[in-house]
Amino acid sequence: MSSDVQSTGAAVDWELVIGLEVHCQLKTRSKIFCGCATSFGEAPNTNTCPVCLGLPGALPVLNEHAVALATRASLALGCTVHETSVFARKNYFYPDLPKGYQISQFDQPIATGGTIVVDESVSPPRVIRVHRVHMEEDAGKSVHDRFRDATAIDLNRAGTPLIEIVSEPEIHSAADAGTYLRRLKQILEYTEVSDANMEEGSLRVDVNISIRPRGAVTLGTKTEVKNLNSFSSAERAIEVEFARQRTLLESGGRVEQQTLLYDEKRNQLRPARSKEGSHDYRYFPEPDLPPLCLAPRFVQEQRDALPELPAAKRERFTARYGLGPADIEQLIGTRMLADRFEAVAASSADPRRAANWMLGPVLAAVKVSGVGTLNDHPVDPTRLGALIRLEAQGQISNTAARQIFSRMEHEPTEPLGIATRDGLLQVSDESALVGWIDEVLAESPSEAARFLAGEIKLQGVLVGQVMKKSKGAADPKKVNQMLAARVS
Ligand SMILES: [Zn+2]
Repeated sequence: MSSDVQSTGAAVDWELVIGLEVHCQLKTRSKIFCGCATSFGEAPNTNTCPVCLGLPGALPVLNEHAVALATRASLALGCTVHETSVFARKNYFYPDLPKGYQISQFDQPIATGGTIVVDESVSPPRVIRVHRVHMEEDAGKSVHDRFRDATAIDLNRAGTPLIEIVSEPEIHSAADAGTYLRRLKQILEYTEVSDANMEEGSLRVDVNISIRPRGAVTLGTKTEVKNLNSFSSAERAIEVEFARQRTLLESGGRVEQQTLLYDEKRNQLRPARSKEGSHDYRYFPEPDLPPLCLAPRFVQEQRDALPELPAAKRERFTARYGLGPADIEQLIGTRMLADRFEAVAASSADPRRAANWMLGPVLAAVKVSGVGTLNDHPVDPTRLGALIRLEAQGQISNTAARQIFSRMEHEPTEPLGIATRDGLLQVSDESALVGWIDEVLAESPSEAARFLAGEIKLQGVLVGQVMKKSKGAADPKKVNQMLAARVS
């Protein structure tokens, strides 16, 4: 695009550039530098001690399990885990930070250089690189709604172990940002490194956004968007900020480096009170902690503890079960669902039906019954497999299968037992079917005559009448065959 075109006011093709910073709480029972519990929802300031309160003379001791989980997450993201990393003090003043600094990692983080694939349907797959993973402690919490004219401080969270996962600024759409976040969360859940729950604050997302004319090499001035409650609100906030920066630049203005807070209800951004971007944290190595040195054996143990990761599962499911990408994406959503599906696919020997049952009636039943997780549902994979086989063999209709399924939720009986007892077996015995067919033809003589003379489109109507007469018990496939055979 030539510059004179731009000066006439024609629209510039702007490229959106997004970098994501994700804070993730590690699933440890105690805090990162003391023995206090990390449990959520306790009375304010009860999970505290001299170390996490920052009292003079208290010394931090690193939680080994937190290091193990940070290492595991880094390996799952394909990062290089460094043999030596260094904790550093990040100095700033804030009421919920009693020490006046946060222990973090700065120029020597635990891991660098991973990847998350956001689209494997294109060649080569579209990949977002992970710049770094570092460990740090969380700060406390300012509580604004507890007292009328005062802000309360709760230090239960202070010292909670976190990792921060920083992407390269190479995401170019809100949709890719959403996929990156969902897949990152999925990896953190698969590896059991974190609950990754945004509502409880165990996963927090900050988004860096800038724009530049497509083809430009240098990055534009970025803003940082915080206060995001969900991945979809992150996607909406990105769109809002993209539009704001475009309008600003196209009207001759400049983007100011600042922190913005997203207001979910109004779908608006407003500047944060403090200018976060202008902080000088004066990082220096934490004098109370030696450098963190990881033995190769320790790293190997964490590698060995990794489960099959979502990307590998996606590939294996695609090759093995012949299902569509949308179904596979749902089935690998959690390890529990993926494992349960595989058990049902094996016991039914029918992956396609197993997938339909898992994603349809089973998930719905788990939701409605409130039994908790999928694994607590009373219809176990063996019984469900038996039910699916009955349906696949044509012994019961899909409608009957669903009725039997809901009965199986309340009794341990085998599906065939229920079908027999409750008269739900499909009738495919020809002598029984002939009776119903003859009755239907006799009751509608004119339609019967037209059909038998070759008006094939009437077949569906007649099958419907046979089904009605048999109260759903007739095997529709068989009825169709027998009717077709009568047309000469
Ligand atoms: Zn403590």
